[in-house]
Amino acid sequence: MKRRDFIKGVALAAGAMSVGLSASEAKPNISETARSVSLQDLAKATNAMPEITIYTAKKFLTMDPTNPEAKAVAVVNDRILAVGSLDELKAMAKGQPYRVNHSFDGKIVTPGFIAQHVHPFLGALALESAIISIEDWDLPGGYVKKARGHDEYIAHFKEELAKLDKKDPEKKLPLFTWGYHQTFHGKLNRKIMDAIESKRPIFVWHRSCHEFILNSGAIKLTGITKEFIDTLRPEARAMTDLEDGHFWETGLFGVLGKLAPYVATTDQFRHGLKTFRDYLHRQGITSASEPGGVISKPMTEIINSILGDESTPFRFYFLPDGKSLAERFVDGDLIDETEKLLSWGKGKCSYQPKQVKLFADGAIYSQLMQLREGYTDGHKGEWMMTPELYAKAFRKYWDAGYMIVTHVTGDAGLDMMLDNLELNMRRNPRYDHRTTAVHFGVAQPDQIKKIKRLGAIVSANPYYVTALADNYAKHGMSPERVKRMVPAGDLERAGVHFSYHSDMPMAPAQPLFLMDCGVNRISTSGKVSAPEQRVSRMAALRAVTIEGAYSWRMEKEFGSIEAGKLANFTILEENPLTVESRKIKDIAVWGTVLEGKVLPVKPNAKPKSGKDTEESLVSAAPFFSSGAATFGKEDDHFMEHGDCVCALNHRFALAMMDAAQKSR
Ligand SMILES: [Zn+2]
Ligand SMILES: [Zn+2]
Ligand SMILES: [Zn+2]
Repeated sequence: MKRRDFIKGVALAAGAMSVGLSASEAKPNISETARSVSLQDLAKATNAMPEITIYTAKKFLTMDPTNPEAKAVAVVNDRILAVGSLDELKAMAKGQPYRVNHSFDGKIVTPGFIAQHVHPFLGALALESAIISIEDWDLPGGYVKKARGHDEYIAHFKEELAKLDKKDPEKKLPLFTWGYHQTFHGKLNRKIMDAIESKRPIFVWHRSCHEFILNSGAIKLTGITKEFIDTLRPEARAMTDLEDGHFWETGLFGVLGKLAPYVATTDQFRHGLKTFRDYLHRQGITSASEPGGVISKPMTEIINSILGDESTPFRFYFLPDGKSLAERFVDGDLIDETEKLLSWGKGKCSYQPKQVKLFADGAIYSQLMQLREGYTDGHKGEWMMTPELYAKAFRKYWDAGYMIVTHVTGDAGLDMMLDNLELNMRRNPRYDHRTTAVHFGVAQPDQIKKIKRLGAIVSANPYYVTALADNYAKHGMSPERVKRMVPAGDLERAGVHFSYHSDMPMAPAQPLFLMDCGVNRISTSGKVSAPEQRVSRMAALRAVTIEGAYSWRMEKEFGSIEAGKLANFTILEENPLTVESRKIKDIAVWGTVLEGKVLPVKPNAKPKSGKDTEESLVSAAPFFSSGAATFGKEDDHFMEHGDCVCALNHRFALAMMDAAQKSR
């Protein structure tokens, strides 16, 4: 028997095993193969055969419906060879060198978690700051508890100042903090901060990323003066308040150039990216993507230099921003220009071919989504791409065979996406197009049917319900209407493909936390919002594994534990399918395996969850920023301020690159 035939024999056996370990007909194949190979053949062939590693665990949750659970997985190099019991895999390996690795004994192993949609630039900057926010953050440098209410916020704030005072008694180093939100933390302005500290510059970055509040030290340092404010366009000027040290939305963009040298330097970005990398790893993430990231080569090169490195514990995918491209090239070589970006990725960072991100309506955090029934207070939503530009770009990308991914937050925004999809299907039908609704903030039953009928898929942010449902029931929407926020239960019942994303820093990039949000739907008051829209644990686990891979067209490479796929695993201390549902987010991540490499994480001393973390946040004021209301009053105002974080990203990035240029 020739060596090639022998290898084929092993591969066949592996194939038979992975397809039907429980099926008895798989077994005769294995013994036949074993019998047909002579000892001499084996000796010759095994010389050149790579070693198999057989991992054992309490349980592998495979996400393969034909073989949902297993006790052992055999890996060769970077790929899975077979899935089964230890005895079965040992029998299969006979004649090939193998080693049994017991590191995961007693643990639960899932397919490697997928961060479907994160923003490394804003994420890196937020992680560079001292986080004082509305939810817990499990950071590489330690576990940061949320600040509940004004007093806790101020206490954390003073702690951060005290730390700096020790390090820098001259009070030169600024305090840069992210996560403040007036709804939860009460009022904060220049005067209140000055009363605590006026000399050391303080930059408070709002939880939404859309606002900054500065103390007098920071105003002085940045040189933002009344004279400077007067040079801004009137609509930008209207969104500044120098006395309060408050700059938001268009007003923030007006002063970004002044802030960037202190809060968004390339050094901060590089350093923050390393924290971002370690943060994703400790959440069990083995692949991540930024849809619609900044189209800037120097910026991409910085990301490549950190996340593209061979040592990075995950692969990172970019999706071209079709909005920026369409604004410039919709009547020209839109597709050629999009394809130019494919060469920009390096190492572990790469652009996804034939995929593009478009934008429909405004940010949910600023309550600027387009709603069929409008808002109870009369303000209006916004479009991020005009419906005309969206339709033109959609058609061009559709005809070029692209998978079109649309940022869409409100039900009227979803109507626009689905209408374009239907029109283009009727004109030029395509199979398996995976047109994706991203965010899925508000959707109605007829839209779920249409999504199913047209073959669209969804990438949902389940944290919207947790953070916003109770607040929006009182402000802008109604208790009845918030029931239609992120209705993922409907998607599960309809059999629509859906994944979960965090949109980090809009939510912690923590797949177990997202699962928890989707399974429980407990909003800020502690009550369940629309219980019928909760999803099963299996659907939630699929949403952060195989469905994430499916949403990138990568499901043949990873996302489940099946023979032939990359050996990407997340190793957990408990089973998310059986642990008490409110404890899903607290399951400890032991580490990951990326393409056959075992990568443990160093655990933080995590505060025991219980009464303390269950306690709800108190919120009375509207969640969305003061800027939203101002904007909403104008009719037909198209969003030039780029309201989604996905787009906010660009403004910051440009300001950073600008500042870097000037300082050279
Ligand atoms: Zn978005
Ligand atoms: Zn905005
Ligand atoms: Zn985004």
